[in-house]
Amino acid sequence: MRQTLSNYEIIVKKNLMNDLNTEVSSVYTNKEIFVVTDHNVFKLYESFLVEKLSDFKLNFVSVEPGEKSKSLSTYKDVVTKLINQGMRKNHLLIAFGGGVVGDLAGFVAATLFRGVPFIQIPTTLLAMVDSSIGGKTGIDLNEGKNLIGAFKNPLKVLVDPVFLETLSKIEYKNGLAEVLKAGLIGDPKLYEYLKTNDKLTLNELKRAIQVKVNIVKKDPFEQNERMFLNFGHTFGHAIERHYDYAIKHGVAISYGMLISLELGIKAKITPSYLFDEVKTILLRLELVKEPLLDKKLFVEYIGFDKKNLADGLRFVYIKGIGEPLIQKGVQI
Ligand code: ADP
Ligand code: ZN
Repeated sequence: MRQTLSNYEIIVKKNLMNDLNTEVSSVYTNKEIFVVTDHNVFKLYESFLVEKLSDFKLNFVSVEPGEKSKSLSTYKDVVTKLINQGMRKNHLLIAFGGGVVGDLAGFVAATLFRGVPFIQIPTTLLAMVDSSIGGKTGIDLNEGKNLIGAFKNPLKVLVDPVFLETLSKIEYKNGLAEVLKAGLIGDPKLYEYLKTNDKLTLNELKRAIQVKVNIVKKDPFEQNERMFLNFGHTFGHAIERHYDYAIKHGVAISYGMLISLELGIKAKITPSYLFDEVKTILLRLELVKEPLLDKKLFVEYIGFDKKNLADGLRFVYIKGIGEPLIQKGVQI
């Protein structure tokens, strides 16, 4: 699959890494590349990447794994190391890792020397289907996630499912939550598939990416349709904040999606069978457990008072599979 978004390509292909020299050469003519990654991915794939990019000289900057690395201090550390390793404005940066590395390295690419060319090579399922697509980059502050950031398109996004072979079950499921979201907001077939399967084939991986590409194409800067991607995320983000981010994003949005479905049923938007169906999938994938979390715990973290929740907040509901609906106001 080759898809063009804005003016860059997203390529999804088994063993795509075997064509890495060619894929990079088609958009970059220098000989030196700077790779930002985390310690886990570095350990697993350093020699692999060196071999696949044999036409280039590689320099690595590796950060601690985990969300804490999406910080101002890690950002400063990474740019300092890149400069000291000899990076200049016309050098290519490769973001090589999961969503954390993609967001952090993308933000470095957006800002260092007022912007350097970069390529995304996502290595987690979540990064492949969600965070590497769409040009959002950013870091966190104590006050909240992704508060500093920029839109920065990569030269390419290169998705090779080979990296999923080493991903832990927990991280894989974390990504499946976003795949289920993609099915619910944009692809009934993908949703059907998840009713009985725990592992994606290349076909479903492509379908999930396609949902995101289609939405971002219509609305790159999140004025309208791109908000559909926030399905389950209003409560999902509130749940993450409530637990001080000690809960996985995929788990938080899984509960968040169920709350959205429940509120949709209450508002007579969502058909009532859908809650039980999605709950069955999420229980099977062990993304949620019973008893489900009480939504009242999270309202205070949504950042709206009760009146605004009812009048002002734009909330994403599901009218039917593949039919999201944004409505102002949510009655808790
Ligand atoms: P996400 O992609 O969900 O935003 P992270 O970027 O934090 O999350 O990645 C989740 C974890 O998976 C991190 O500990 C990271 O080092 C690890 N990881 C990333 N890619 C791989 C891979 N291909 N194989 C094994 N572990 C990986
Ligand atoms: Zn998400």
